[in-house]
Amino acid sequence: MKKTPEMEKLDNFLRSSRIVAGGFMGEDIRDVDEVIVADTRSVERLGYSLEQVAARMHEITHIAKEGLGVCVDVGAGLKGCVDEAKGRIVCPWPHPASFDKRLTTVTDVESGKEITWSDLHIHLIEEHGFFEGIGSAMRIEPVKLITIIF
Ligand SMILES: [Zn+2]
Repeated sequence: MKKTPEMEKLDNFLRSSRIVAGGFMGEDIRDVDEVIVADTRSVERLGYSLEQVAARMHEITHIAKEGLGVCVDVGAGLKGCVDEAKGRIVCPWPHPASFDKRLTTVTDVESGKEITWSDLHIHLIEEHGFFEGIGSAMRIEPVKLITIIF
């Protein structure tokens, strides 16, 4: 697929380490759109849509937020903890969108498996189908995410 100048610019920006340590792409040498297509397929193969995944993440963060820093039961055998930091983080895509620096950590009480996401992650998944590149410190593995939250 031929890259448009906009895609090229976005790709370079996502690989830059100025926004988040190591950039959003990690060691991933694939193009951003290839990463998106592959991860969207993984989600769909498990029978879910990006919208359903993002909606469930919103729901868990919403409940966990009420704990005000204390971990709470978010239902379905999951425990949710929210950590808030000062400031906001902007979406790297060229449109105006910024998010509180909030991290939600969800633990499956029985298996001990846990996963952490930020409000920006939810947006990236919902709007852009982007889980970050392989090797990125904050990449969310779609299969792991779905196994825990559903
Ligand atoms: Zn965005």
